[in-house]
Amino acid sequence: MHLSIFHLYPARMNLYGDRGNVLALVRRAEWRGWTVEVVPVEAGEPADFARADLIFMGGGEDRHQAAIFEDFRRRGPEIRAALADGVPALAVCGAYQLLGHYYETAAGQRLDGLGWFDAYTRPGPGRAIGNVVVEATLPLEPRTLVGFENHGGRTYLEPGQAPLGRVVAGAGNNGADGTEGAVKLATVGTYLHGSLLPKNPQLADWLLARAQERREGRAQLEPLDDTLELWAHAGAVERTRRLTRVKNGAGR
Ligand code: GLN
Repeated sequence: MHLSIFHLYPARMNLYGDRGNVLALVRRAEWRGWTVEVVPVEAGEPADFARADLIFMGGGEDRHQAAIFEDFRRRGPEIRAALADGVPALAVCGAYQLLGHYYETAAGQRLDGLGWFDAYTRPGPGRAIGNVVVEATLPLEPRTLVGFENHGGRTYLEPGQAPLGRVVAGAGNNGADGTEGAVKLATVGTYLHGSLLPKNPQLADWLLARAQERREGRAQLEPLDDTLELWAHAGAVERTRRLTRVKNGAGR
C-alpha cells in the first residue's frame, strides 16, 4: 500500500506539536510495510489533491489563519472534492475552524472557510485552555480521545452536523453544549492538540483504515503493539479526570 499524506501549511499551521500527528501516521503506516510520502503544501504552491490519500492540517494563531485562509479558499473546490470522495482528513483547531462556514477572529475579522462542516466559529469570552477527554462517536477502541485545547473561538454545529464526540472534561466546541469536534464522511475536525494521534493511536488507525479502504477496497490493518501509546492515553484520561474532580471540589 502506498500512502500520500498532504500536509497543509506546515510552516504556519502547527501548534502544540500538531506536526506529531503526521509523524504518527507515517510511522504507523511504515511499521505495516507501507510506503509513505508526505507532501507539504504551502500557500501559493501547486498541489494536485486528486493524488492525496490523506490530508492533515494543524492549528494556528489568528494571524496565521488570516495569512492562509484565502489560499485555502482558492483550493476549496479541489479539497472539497477530495473530502467528498472519502479521502480521510484530520483538521486540528484553527484548521477545523476553517473547514466550517467561517471563523471570526478575536479582533472581529471574518475569515471565510470551506463550509465543509455545517458549523461556524465566533470569538468567546477569554480562551478555552486545558486538558480534554472526549467520548468519541466513532467506533474506536478505546472510545475516549485525549488532548489539549487552547482556543479563543467557540464553534457551533448546525442541526444535523455530527460532532466528533461528547466532552467528558474540558470545553470542546464551545464549553456549553457538550460537543467536541465534527465528523463528516472520513473528515475529522477537532480542537485537540497534543500531539493528538501519538496518544490516540486508535484514531490514527481509523484514518489509515479509511485510506486503505479507498485505495484497496477493504481495510485490513495489521495490529501493532500499542502498549506505550495506550499507557500514555490512560495516564492522560486519569490525570485529567483527577484534576477536573479537584477543580470542581469533588472528592474532598
Ligand atoms: N486562532 C484560533 C483560536 O484561538 C485557533 C487556535 C488554535 O489553533 N489553537 O481560536
